[in-house]
Amino acid sequence: MRSFYLDSSDWPETPDERLILTGTEAHHASRVIRVKVGEEVRVFDGIGREALAEVDYVGKNRVDLAPREVRVSPPPARSVTLAVAWTKALRRSWLLEKAVELEASAVWFWQADRSQGKIPDEPKETWTAQLVAGAKQCESAWVPALRTFPKGFPEVAAAAAAIPKRFALWEDPHQPRMLTANDLDGPGDILFVLGPEGGFSPKEEALFTDAGSGFVPVSLGRRILRWETAALLCLGLAFWSGS
Ligand code: SAM
Repeated sequence: MRSFYLDSSDWPETPDERLILTGTEAHHASRVIRVKVGEEVRVFDGIGREALAEVDYVGKNRVDLAPREVRVSPPPARSVTLAVAWTKALRRSWLLEKAVELEASAVWFWQADRSQGKIPDEPKETWTAQLVAGAKQCESAWVPALRTFPKGFPEVAAAAAAIPKRFALWEDPHQPRMLTANDLDGPGDILFVLGPEGGFSPKEEALFTDAGSGFVPVSLGRRILRWETAALLCLGLAFWSGS
């Protein structure tokens, strides 16, 4: 079944009112997918609400849908936040799609001392579009929240203060203990912080190794992984343990 995204702010007040697709979603439905009147489609808002709806008008810039059934999926029992250091765009869209599939609640990008390039102050529209594309493909009703942290690790640490399980993924072969299944078991929101291609700077390492930081430095094993591999592994382990 075809899925279309409708931002939660655009959903009607009452459940039997029409859902109106406009902009890129209307164009996608009418010009790319070429939906037909009477066809049943799925609409989702990215924060848990989805509807089965019947197409009852197809215009060039607007598609009207009559909702047949609306349901709300609760958020995952615990949130998983992936904080990856800003790095070249190469695999970012791929990672955003995997973050949806593996039910990350949030994806944070942060400016590390060794990041290549400058992080945008705000998340880009294209990132949201990539998350929506991922949610369409895996029929998820949830889309991870996006944030950027241009001020670096201290800004991430401050934003993460309420997250009980905070892991700094540290590739230093001599230091950290392994991340274990035990770490990820049971309730309690999780944060994974990963460094850039060039790794964490000594200043950043001092921040997360400080006993009072609330971070646990952990290793994924002796091999130095590319940031996207390490990120995917963290999300996969959390998804698997949460299932
Ligand atoms: N500076 C590293 C080097 O060249 O030796 C490479 C950093 S790695 C490409 C990018 C990030 O992935 C690291 O900062 C870390 O967060 C994560 N990472 C990669 N391999 C890891 C491992 N074996 N254990 C924990 N984290 C790892």
